[in-house]
Amino acid sequence: MKLTIAHLYPDMLNLYGDGGNIRCLQKRLEWRGIETEVRAFLSGDKIDFEGLDIVLLGGGSDREQRIVCKYLKKEAQSLKDYVERGGVLLAICGGYQLLGNYYRTDRTLIEGLGILDISTEWAPERLTGNIVLKTPLFKNPVVGFENHGGRTFIGNYSPFGKVVRGYGNNETSKGEGILYKNVLGTYLHGPLLPKNPEVCDFLLARALKRKYGKDIALQRLSDRLEHEANCHIARRTRPCAVRQKHLCLV
Ligand code: GLN
Repeated sequence: MKLTIAHLYPDMLNLYGDGGNIRCLQKRLEWRGIETEVRAFLSGDKIDFEGLDIVLLGGGSDREQRIVCKYLKKEAQSLKDYVERGGVLLAICGGYQLLGNYYRTDRTLIEGLGILDISTEWAPERLTGNIVLKTPLFKNPVVGFENHGGRTFIGNYSPFGKVVRGYGNNETSKGEGILYKNVLGTYLHGPLLPKNPEVCDFLLARALKRKYGKDIALQRLSDRLEHEANCHIARRTRPCAVRQKHLCLV
């Protein structure tokens, strides 16, 4: 078995260690004896989505986002086809915003790829800090770090998780990110996957199922250190509703 992972524009979109997500995907496959190949596509490279199993689109500043958008526009239809055919895509912060219709800042309107019918509006106060989510998909809370000026409105799509602490998509909805087919869009940097191994395995399982046409049981890993780190962040992040509810496995 083998999965091919693509990192889109690491020269532009790689804030707060988003690239660590690639290392995590790779390592957790390797530990299970599954082969991996990582392909990095730099700005301006032509992307062939055929043969890709997992795509990472990281976060970036408004300036970088504008530049990247120009390149990505050329790939928009192929990326849309990839998404509609069930391709796994992890899009973080600026990358997540780019999947929508637009991101309107105080200075300009950055056109999105229109892959998801969502939109983002900038406001002067940045939404920054540690964030904790709950989702019935996972036993543990999902923890991360957010720092964005954009507020994303997702209409009737399902959010990735419910915000226990932090902001998420915007100040009012209490939802964070989006789950659509095998697309996970989120504001969680951090990097997300090493802090939340359950999320990593969720993406791996989806990619393996799509490629091999059946559920492939992922061998259990110890994850003691990962859970310790996850619990530490969830506990440290007040209010302590999280403390009482979350499952600490250490
Ligand atoms: N530039 C976007 C915003 O501020 C995304 C930032 C990011 O990727 N951290 O909303």
